[in-house]
Amino acid sequence: MKSTESPLSSAPSFSVEQLLKELPVPLFTCNRQGILHLSNTAFDELCELKALPGTSVFEIKTLKFFDGNGRRISSENSPLLEILHSRNPVINKQVKAGPKNQSFLLSTSFSLKADQGEQLVNFCLIPNYSTESEEIKNARLSAIVEYSNDAIISKDLNGHITSWNKAAEKLFKYTEEEVIGKHISLLFPEDRLKDERMILDTIKRGEQIKHFETIRLDKTGKEIPLSLTISPIKDSAGRIIGASKVAREISERLESEKKQAHLSAIVEHSDDAIISKDLNGTITSWNHGASKIFGYSEEEVLGKPITLLIPAERLQEEDLILKKIKSGEKIQHFETVRVTKVGKEIPVSLSVSPIKNLQGAIIGASKIARNIEEQIRFRKKIKAYNVKLNILNSVGRDISSNLDVQTVIQKVTDACTKLSGAKFGAFFYNTENGNGESMMLYTLSGAPKEAFENLGMPRHTAVFQSTFTGQGAVRIDDITSDARYGQNYPFNGMPPGHLKVVSYMAIPVISSSGKVTGGLLFGHPEKGVFQEEHEMMIKSIAAQAAIALDNSRLFERVKSLSEKKDEFIALASHELKTPLTTVKGYLQILEKKIEEPSSRLFLSKALEQADRLHTLIEDLLNMSRIEAGKLEFHYEEFDLREMLLDLAETFSHSASTHQIITNLGENPVIVKADKQRLEQALINLLSNAVKYSPTAQKVHLNLSVNDENIRVGVRDEGIGLTEEEQKQVFSRFYRAESTKGINGLGLGLYLTKQIIDAHHGQLAVESKVGAGSEFYFMLPRIC
Ligand code: ADP
Repeated sequence: MKSTESPLSSAPSFSVEQLLKELPVPLFTCNRQGILHLSNTAFDELCELKALPGTSVFEIKTLKFFDGNGRRISSENSPLLEILHSRNPVINKQVKAGPKNQSFLLSTSFSLKADQGEQLVNFCLIPNYSTESEEIKNARLSAIVEYSNDAIISKDLNGHITSWNKAAEKLFKYTEEEVIGKHISLLFPEDRLKDERMILDTIKRGEQIKHFETIRLDKTGKEIPLSLTISPIKDSAGRIIGASKVAREISERLESEKKQAHLSAIVEHSDDAIISKDLNGTITSWNHGASKIFGYSEEEVLGKPITLLIPAERLQEEDLILKKIKSGEKIQHFETVRVTKVGKEIPVSLSVSPIKNLQGAIIGASKIARNIEEQIRFRKKIKAYNVKLNILNSVGRDISSNLDVQTVIQKVTDACTKLSGAKFGAFFYNTENGNGESMMLYTLSGAPKEAFENLGMPRHTAVFQSTFTGQGAVRIDDITSDARYGQNYPFNGMPPGHLKVVSYMAIPVISSSGKVTGGLLFGHPEKGVFQEEHEMMIKSIAAQAAIALDNSRLFERVKSLSEKKDEFIALASHELKTPLTTVKGYLQILEKKIEEPSSRLFLSKALEQADRLHTLIEDLLNMSRIEAGKLEFHYEEFDLREMLLDLAETFSHSASTHQIITNLGENPVIVKADKQRLEQALINLLSNAVKYSPTAQKVHLNLSVNDENIRVGVRDEGIGLTEEEQKQVFSRFYRAESTKGINGLGLGLYLTKQIIDAHHGQLAVESKVGAGSEFYFMLPRIC
């Protein structure tokens, strides 16, 4: 059978004491003296200890009570004491108790202790959550107000300040004590006092004022730009009793707005086009400069693709630009071409930078385009100036380094024609022919000679005459309409095919003596080609040309005198040689006939001097032959080593003061050369070595051979030569300063050099002052 017992009958035995023990509300019972009779676990938890029966509740230190301001209530004033002494029970009395200062609703009841009849007081502390959350809310709000970054102020309806937070202190520099109770107008600049009326009126109507931008003063009198939000404060009955003000300083924002405005103004007024586009290449902004350069208004282009400005053949540039921008790269001063609204292509320099959003993502590009037409024109001009400068320099160099009249005037004509931009140029130059007759030479540039053939001598034409007679430069924009020159003008009425001249310029070439020696003439078939700058330039070249012409004229004169001198030397040496040969012949006959020793001595001395004279005359003759290009060579094959050995031996007989030391190797050195001339060259070198080392005893004659060259050197231990002298010793008639006391003509080395040159060899010297010299020559191995 199933049981029919009720559930209650099966419940465990139930103790009220236990129920009270476990109730989550602190409970305790004590006698009127406060001696604890009973307490539960929640009470122990509140006191954070195990409260034992028989303990006095006043001894439980953790069972504290606090007033509304959170201050601890002393044990004499403890609400417990009051309750224990009273006869009335307490219902829901708000208290704050426990180490955590919690809020409770305290209720009491009285009962009798069963055994002794003693009256007990029962305490029940129900946690008061609603009060606590309100408090927390208030505390939080005051903390927010206190620590807000905005100044938060409240005032009553008379405008007296009733609260003032920390941020207000910071912003206005007044402490709370300084302003509480003061009128808010303390913060107002004179001219804003009327604001307060408007604010109060609005507040009184219960309305809020939002983000009202105004100015207030701080304690130091400094003006502070602010954004104010003012709200009415109402009491519990809904009456408006004041206003709260939240003030935010906006100087930073104003500054940044100012900066922004400034930047916008710069962008707007820049002469450069400043354009922005998104990553699809769509134009998103367009400044005034862009309108000026490209001709489109802002409305016309916003939202349009940037390719609108790119010439068809350059469209791929945009892909490249966008690719770079997307990867965060900048493009700087990229020179390219863009097209304007009217289709005109203009050169621009582009700088493109990525535009990023606040998160740093690239969202577009800003482009600065500068029209560089002017710059390019300028660059071209500089380039043209450089070309001109180079021409000027080179013509200067050519003029000063050249002494040939025809070459000089041709170079001047070419350069001037180029520099002046003339179609053709001519240089007419007065000179004298060999018979002293005056004649006129001319060179042309830019036109064939035939073009001038029918012109006759331009000196006879009116136009050119003024230049030749020294009246100065002539520059005419349109010669055809210039009455002064009328029909006489040589190019006027020219047969077809001849030079047509409209622009005309003529510059005189004046020598240092002031005589007009020539003139530069330029023409161009178009009007107004020659400008003042051309005239100045040509004038300066003409001045240089005049100097060069003077120099070349002097040079011609010197050259002709020098030629005359050479002719004379050739003639004289030839004439001197014949009687000398006869004298030598008779002396040799006498030498054979005379026995008497002293007479023989005189005879041999006379013969020696006759030989010297013969050598000198030979040198002079050879020199004039060289000058006339008539020195002849007879090549034969022979052993150079053997020739040097013979030469050294013969030479040591005549040069008794010095010993000839040979270092000629062991093997024959076969050369193909003019033996006599080589001997002559070597005798020159050996004689010099002896002559210019008066205090030394040795002269070295060396021969060496390598794969390419044969080297013959004559080394002395004599006076030596400076570097400057070494450079000049091979010139005709040159004699070093230090050797002036020693006889000589300065022809030997000159002749030696001509002989070695004729053998395709090189003659050179290595020398040191005081230490001696080595003159050596190299002959190519296959002679
Ligand atoms: P010359 O000896 O007749 O003066 P050269 O033409 O042979 O003429 O020499 C030219 C000049 O070179 C000499 O006057 C002398 O100043 C210098 N010279 C030539 N050989 C030597 C040398 N071996 N040492 C120093 N100076 C020399």
